Amino acid sequence: MRPRLLHGLSGVSVTLLWVALVSVRHRTPALSGTAPGEKSSRLRALALTQVYIAVKTTQSYHGSRLTLLLDTWISRARNQTYIFTDGEDQALQERLGSHLVITNCSAEHSHPALSCKMAAELDAFLASRLSWFCHLDDDNYLNTEALLTLLSSFSPTWDVYIGKPSLNRPIRASEPMSNNQTRPVQFWFATGGAGFCINRKLARKMVPWASGPNFLSTSTMIRLPDDCTVGYIVECKLGRRLLPSPLFHSHLENLQALGAAQLPNQVTLSYGIFEKKLNAIDLDGPFSPQEDPSRFRSLHCLLYPDTSWCPQQATQ
Ligand code: UDP
Ligand code: MN
Repeated sequence: MRPRLLHGLSGVSVTLLWVALVSVRHRTPALSGTAPGEKSSRLRALALTQVYIAVKTTQSYHGSRLTLLLDTWISRARNQTYIFTDGEDQALQERLGSHLVITNCSAEHSHPALSCKMAAELDAFLASRLSWFCHLDDDNYLNTEALLTLLSSFSPTWDVYIGKPSLNRPIRASEPMSNNQTRPVQFWFATGGAGFCINRKLARKMVPWASGPNFLSTSTMIRLPDDCTVGYIVECKLGRRLLPSPLFHSHLENLQALGAAQLPNQVTLSYGIFEKKLNAIDLDGPFSPQEDPSRFRSLHCLLYPDTSWCPQQATQ
C-alpha cells in the first residue's frame, strides 16, 4: 500500500478501503449472500445483474481488441455488458444486438470525443435501474467474481467511487468563475484505463454536471479528459472522495510485477505497449505468448477451465 495515495483520504474512506481489501482476501461469497456467522449489515449479497458494465471502444479496435474481450470475460457477463463505440459494424451488431451502442461521438482520441462516450455510458446507466456503473476500456480484462466480491462490501447507503488513482497526488485544474477569473482546484481521479465503478446513489448526485450535454461542458470547462472529469465532479462538486483500490490495473503500471498467485483476485487487468515493449501480466500457459500476447485467454482458462476453447485437462 502506498501511503501517499491515502494521504488525502478521510478516516471513513480508509475504513472502506480496509473493508474492501479484507473482504477480497477472504473471498466473501458474492452470489450466495453473507456467510453464516458473518455480520450481515456490512457484507451483503450482490448479483452481477445489478451491475451495468460499459466498455469504451472505437471502430478500428472492434477486431483487434473487442473480439478478445467477447471471447473471454464478456462471454460470462453478456447480459450486463454494453459496448460503446463510434461506428457501424454489422457483424458486431448481430453478435451483440442492443448491447452494442453506436454513439454519435467522433472516432478520435480527443478529449471531446472521449467525453462524449463517457457521457453516453453514464446516461445509459442512469436510465437503467441498476445499482452499479463500471466503466472499462477495451484493453481491460474484468474478473466479474472479484468485482462482485469487492462491490458487495459496500453498503448501498454510501456514495462510492472506486478505482485506481492515476497519479500519486491529486491533479490540479483551473475552474472558471463567473467574474472571468479562475480558481485552482485539485482532486483525485480513477484512471479510465484501469476501469472504475460508481454506485447509483453517487451517480444520481452527479447528474447536474454529468448527464446529457453537461458532461462535455464540465470536461471542456476544466480542459481535462473524461476520467479526470469524473473525479472533478465527485470531489470538487460533490465533496466525495475516490476510494483507491489496488485491485484495478492499467497498462501504465508494470503488470509483470503482479505475482501469478494474485492474478485471480484482481478486479481488472490490462495490456499495452510501453517503451516499444508489450506490457502484460506474467502467466504460464495454457496458451503461448505468441498465441495470446495479452495473456487474457490464458487467464480466462485459469479462472474458467470449463470454457469450451480452453485445453481440457486430461481425466484419469
Ligand atoms: N479510444 C476511442 N477512440 C479513439 C482511440 C481510443 O474511443 O480514437 C478508446 C479505446 O478504444 C480505449 C480507450 O479509448 O477503450 C483508450 O485507448 P488506448 O488504449 O488506445 O489508449 P491509452 O490511453 O490507454 O494509451
Ligand atoms: Mn489503453
